[in-house]
Amino acid sequence: MDYPLTTATSFLQDFAQMSRHGATPGGGVDRQAATPEDHATRAWFGDWLARHGLAEAVDGIGNQFGCVTLRPGAPYILVGSHLDSQPLAGRYDGAYGVLAAAHAVAAVAAEAGAGGLEPKYNLAVVNWFNEEGGRFAPSVMGSSVFAGLFDREQMLSVKDLQGVSVREALEGIGYLGTDAGPKAAGYAEIHIEQGRILEREGINIGLVDSSWYTQKLDIEVLGEQSHTGATAMADRHDALVAASKIILMVHEVTKNFDEEALVSSVGQLTLEPNSPIVVARRVHLVADLRSGDPEIVNAARARVLADIGKLAAEHDIKVNVKDFDIRPIRRFPEAGLELSAKIAANLGLSSRRIQTMAGHDSVAMNTAVPSVMLFIPSVDGVSHCEREFTSDEDMVTGVEMLTGVARELVQGELA
Ligand SMILES: [Zn+2]
Repeated sequence: MDYPLTTATSFLQDFAQMSRHGATPGGGVDRQAATPEDHATRAWFGDWLARHGLAEAVDGIGNQFGCVTLRPGAPYILVGSHLDSQPLAGRYDGAYGVLAAAHAVAAVAAEAGAGGLEPKYNLAVVNWFNEEGGRFAPSVMGSSVFAGLFDREQMLSVKDLQGVSVREALEGIGYLGTDAGPKAAGYAEIHIEQGRILEREGINIGLVDSSWYTQKLDIEVLGEQSHTGATAMADRHDALVAASKIILMVHEVTKNFDEEALVSSVGQLTLEPNSPIVVARRVHLVADLRSGDPEIVNAARARVLADIGKLAAEHDIKVNVKDFDIRPIRRFPEAGLELSAKIAANLGLSSRRIQTMAGHDSVAMNTAVPSVMLFIPSVDGVSHCEREFTSDEDMVTGVEMLTGVARELVQGELA
């Protein structure tokens, strides 16, 4: 690796400093969207932008930009990811991509300043608001509003489980901005793979060619509240018992398809009244179905719905199911894939095309402007947990790769 040693060292020092915000005892971070920990990370990042001569801007959904003018009046190439995390998460998911983008933007801006390239666009790093969606659903919120896929006012009124709205939470941390944000002409992002393909094959860079088809099911199980002691077993309409069976259905449905062709889970459940001496009257849960093939998701959904219908009849309870957050397969532009493969080869890095099973800000941005999405390896493929890990060497390699991509995009190579 011939990446300048001082640059690599400063990146790793910055990464260590950034990772202190919202740090958890298990070596991870916990900084859900618009919490004090998210605020601390944003403030640190805002300071980083100022120290590196990037002009900070915050838009009306909390997206945080650091802009540099290379060609006055021209639109911007955006490079970024997200600083928010899941609860008890790893320190690489999203945050690595934002810091890598910041270093790439600073390096390309310095090169342009020294007359080393001919910029056709301006350049900005971005920290998208609420990519994770753990506190406020749906996920990929800030970039989707920016790309025009979600309505801003509607997203500002979304509430967390405590009844706090996005608007109130953003105002609370001082990040409900009024800036319009830069006008985008292209986008690039780097992220940890969160799977084990690159590690298994010993490959440096994943070139993301498409995203998986995903959909969620909003499931409301309505039983009847009663006394856990005094009610005869035959008279109970226990919403939690029925909900438990639904959780298993969602898990088991994957077995009807080829191994790893479909992934599914129930990750959120709320229970009312949630008292130890009351049979539950209502359970709300969210199921998540994903596949590279939309037909498989549709078949799995149909099967789950049929099984839920039978279950509702057996338990004599009502179950309401609504489809939401359906995200079609989206393909990244061929020109960006070819350009990235060439950049990797010139840097002496191995690369391969790869699909993303997870949602990313780049998937939303790619609907608005030509976008490039890159992966670096994840050790053991683990993510959304404190054990998430990527080596320093792989991180630095990724910064070098992203810098190469930003350098080409800013010169109009993907226009
Ligand atoms: Zn992420």
